[in-house]
Amino acid sequence: MSDDAIAGDRAARPRVILDTNFEDGARFMAAWGVLAPDESLFYLALTAQVPPAEQIGDAQLRALWPLDLPGFHRIVLDEGRVTLDLLVGTPEAVLPEIEARVDQIHLRAGVPPMLARQLARLAQPEAELLADVPDEAMKLALRKQGFVEQPDAVSYRALYQSRKPRLPAPPLPAVRQAIVIGAGIAGASACHRLCAAGWQVTLIERHALPAQEASGNVAGIFMPLLSKDDNIPTRLTRAAFLFGLREWQRLGGVGHVFEGASCGVLQLARDAEHAQVQQDVVATWNYPQQYVRWLDAVAAGALLGGPTPHGGWLFGQGGWARPASLCAALLAACGTRLRQCFHEEALRLERQGDNWQVFDGSGALLGEAPTVILANGAGAVGIAQAAQLPLARLRGQVTHLAQELGPRLSLAVCREAYVTPPNQGVICAGATYSSDDERELRASCQQENLARLAEIIPGEAVAALAETAPLAGRVGFRCAAPDRLPLVGALPDYDSSGRIERLRDMPVHAGLYSLLGYASRGIIWSTLMAELLVSQLEQRPLPLEATLVDALVPGRFMLKQRRRAGGG
Ligand SMILES: Cc1cc2nc3c(=O)[nH]c(=O)nc-3n(C[C@H](O)[C@H](O)[C@H](O)COP(=O)(O)OP(=O)(O)OC[C@H]3O[C@@H](n4cnc5c(N)ncnc54)[C@H](O)[C@@H]3O)c2cc1C
Repeated sequence: MSDDAIAGDRAARPRVILDTNFEDGARFMAAWGVLAPDESLFYLALTAQVPPAEQIGDAQLRALWPLDLPGFHRIVLDEGRVTLDLLVGTPEAVLPEIEARVDQIHLRAGVPPMLARQLARLAQPEAELLADVPDEAMKLALRKQGFVEQPDAVSYRALYQSRKPRLPAPPLPAVRQAIVIGAGIAGASACHRLCAAGWQVTLIERHALPAQEASGNVAGIFMPLLSKDDNIPTRLTRAAFLFGLREWQRLGGVGHVFEGASCGVLQLARDAEHAQVQQDVVATWNYPQQYVRWLDAVAAGALLGGPTPHGGWLFGQGGWARPASLCAALLAACGTRLRQCFHEEALRLERQGDNWQVFDGSGALLGEAPTVILANGAGAVGIAQAAQLPLARLRGQVTHLAQELGPRLSLAVCREAYVTPPNQGVICAGATYSSDDERELRASCQQENLARLAEIIPGEAVAALAETAPLAGRVGFRCAAPDRLPLVGALPDYDSSGRIERLRDMPVHAGLYSLLGYASRGIIWSTLMAELLVSQLEQRPLPLEATLVDALVPGRFMLKQRRRAGGG
């Protein structure tokens, strides 16, 4: 049975359980085991580190089990009926980062009493808290936060929530109907997650087929990002990369239901100094070897099939994918809940009562629904409500080399640019960055790509390509925000006035959302960003830390602007 087949029976709110210690997972398995056929479960479990996969008895769970890496790991099971969020870190670090409304809390030893406030923030009214014989300090803290002890002395009932979550959740939609504008990887992923959650979706696309713009490349690479300070882009990319891999596996697998391969990505160091940084990062964070390994020049050269000066990071789970084939697989999995409208350009949105009406350039009504999601990349700023978002359109040119001309690689390699193994006889090398609008291929951009390729793969054969390779490739336009992070959530209302000091006070357009700004990482980010938005719409637990969710709020630029201007 697909997600789609069962979602219709799942209109009721899922049961949400928070467990402050996953331990061996027995409580999670028990909660899953007693789930009625028409119920769904979100199980949020804290763990200091991810237990090894060998300790996981259930075969389905083991197959999707994450590596021991920091952050939130969402694992969707049982065709979408059960979701396990494995939250890695100490209770002090993790609890404030959870955005959820919890029905039941399992409080294990090791949670400091000062965190009772966080438990109260997360508890639904009337939530039940089951505690492992709490000490007096914890009992007192729980009482102070409004938890009332029950006669059996180990269970407590929350009578009220002491604080509201950081960002107010949008109202739960009365009608699960949405229009998604744009059939690239952002829009296709949105359709997929919405349909799985039981929504009726209309997809509006101006071309005859999906993935004709940025998502139309022959191959793009997916890989994590590393940094010394594990900053927000690094954490976000890690979470998205890992969730994407799990979800692609559920979809049928890279190289099976869509074109691509998890062949590994080698990120070569730029110079000796960068090689040292790469080694330091690996030593500092001590990531599992399957996630990243530092390879010295000799080992990296062996993978490349030729000498390379400095070595690099090997991301064993990375690889390449053809985004158009991924879009096709996602849209095919949507089933009958999805209606696809091609050759239609959505240019004007008007709010009429509880609905958004979507019009084309001639004023013809293309559709209406209470919820509209802008997933139209570089085209978004053509719609008035999104026109003031600071989104840049960045031209990128990829060079296509006939397989017999280019390097024979078994994995993707990057440095200042990337090169993929051949797909259908074509090797992709790219890509350039510029801010002009030229749609035609440019010889100068091809030279730039080939020069960078020669830096990746030394030797005369590759160097000669600059002279011999015919001009071939593809031009696409990335949609990028100034901070290079996506814009996920409700669209800010730029016409509103007044002082705004906090994201949570941002005036937004009711029912209008964005999945924009995927810049150079759309393949990597699209799955998790769609899951995040649909979780927000459905008021389910969010799959990411609150700090990361806040970093993606589309109104963040307007907030900065208003703060600078000192008001409206
Ligand atoms: C040269 C290049 C190389 C890249 N390499 C990689 C890589 O290696 N790895 C990676 O992860 N990412 C890579 N990217 C980035 C990735 O391709 C993008 O982030 C991603 O494709 C963006 O997807 P999207 O759905 O947001 O936008 P798009 O794919 O552009 O989709 C937007 C869709 O909306 C439609 N549309 C726009 N306006 C309207 C309207 N008004 N009405 C109806 N339809 C509309 C468009 O026709 C289009 O189909 C690369 C991008 C480029 C350009």
